[in-house]
Amino acid sequence: MSQIIQAIRGMNDILPDEAELWEWFEDSVRDWLRGYGYRPIRMPLVEPTPLFARAIGTVTDIVEKEMYSFTDSLNGEQLTLRPEGTAGCVRAALQHNLLYDGPKRLWYQGPMFRHERPQKGRYRQFHQIGVEALGFSGPDIDAEMILMCRRLWDDLGLEGIHLELNSLGQIEERQQHRGALIAHFESHAARLDADAQRRLHSNPLRILDSKNPEMRDLVEAAPKLLDYLGADSLKHFEALQALLKDAGISYQINPRLVRGLDYYNLTVFEWVSDSLGAQGTVCAGGRYDGLFTQLGGKPQPACGFAMGIERLLMLLRERGGKAASHVPDIYIVHQGDQALRFAFVVAEGMRDNGYTVQMHCGGSSFKAQMKRADASGATLAVIIGDDEAAAEEVTLKPLREAAEQHRVAYDQLADAIGALLFEWEDENGGI
Ligand code: ATP
Ligand code: MG
Repeated sequence: MSQIIQAIRGMNDILPDEAELWEWFEDSVRDWLRGYGYRPIRMPLVEPTPLFARAIGTVTDIVEKEMYSFTDSLNGEQLTLRPEGTAGCVRAALQHNLLYDGPKRLWYQGPMFRHERPQKGRYRQFHQIGVEALGFSGPDIDAEMILMCRRLWDDLGLEGIHLELNSLGQIEERQQHRGALIAHFESHAARLDADAQRRLHSNPLRILDSKNPEMRDLVEAAPKLLDYLGADSLKHFEALQALLKDAGISYQINPRLVRGLDYYNLTVFEWVSDSLGAQGTVCAGGRYDGLFTQLGGKPQPACGFAMGIERLLMLLRERGGKAASHVPDIYIVHQGDQALRFAFVVAEGMRDNGYTVQMHCGGSSFKAQMKRADASGATLAVIIGDDEAAAEEVTLKPLREAAEQHRVAYDQLADAIGALLFEWEDENGGI
């Protein structure tokens, strides 16, 4: 026999126990976003490679080494599995002129692909919830985005996630800071690691993001971008902070928090969990007023953030978060040809009444079927033999309560089940 083919490293199956937690999470997220007036959008998983080169920038980790790109064998076009959603979302807004009648609040979710070294909290196919406010200049919307994150953590019962905040100012301010930064790092050139040396002249801001502990004090002593901000940038940053303070949100200003891309400006923020180690950032966002023009559109201010679903679910699991169990109300056990045909009628009829029903399929003995019914976790078994089928009746057997089984006419079954479930729910103080 040949070997079983395995999934690609860093691309994971999400099995049913796990997938139920995902669904529960996705339902919470949908409600939460609706509460803030965000509307869904769905973009393709594959986009032309130049979209990402232009949007994210060619001197970034993502574009330099993390993209899954390939040539379309039919027409030679360069294509890429999307590594993030903002570029595609702004492309869609431009292509369909979505902002023709004013700003838009949009969100999406789904898989993203990055060729990274797989480890805890870092995968090659991972999933994000992306939230984008297009056409808003802030700082009110910047504050609202941060507030809404806090509400989600509260809704999900997550604790120990702290907020880090910074302002990247505008491009001219960053240019001045960049000069000072290069001078600082050049004067300690011998201490720069290979990554930093490579970035010194292409993207020195990104050196501030270095995770190398040996460069930590060098990075900490570097000139701070905040000291180079002009009056307007400072005003935006201060107004944002005032709104956060009003809302009782605590934060740390982290001058090393950067996005080393030209189109990012003003607000950047990250929500970081205290308990996930090096992969602690569960949500990252900021303002990208330059992106629309970078992608060939008219200028539009915009702001957004993305959450890593795997990392959030790791936190949820750590805190004992659990999806509502998806056990059926009813398991249908049947034996005989007549009974099988009647069982289908009963199953569909109970589903019409809003009950969840698992029908036994594949035959087997009455005893084996009852075992399956028990293992399914169902509250009730509905048992149908040929004699029940002939009389249009079923036998109703409680599986979780010490109550007698009894026969019920089919036309009274929905009410009988309703009464039992209601009675037990009441006794148990709600299920
Ligand atoms: P990091 O510094 O951890 O590589 P990043 O700056 O590349 O993060 P963003 O592009 O800002 O991350 O993506 C937003 C969020 O998506 C991250 O905060 C994280 O929660 C999640 N994320 C990013 N890359 C991965 C990955 N490879 N696996 C799982 N989650 C990821
Ligand atoms: Mg990364």
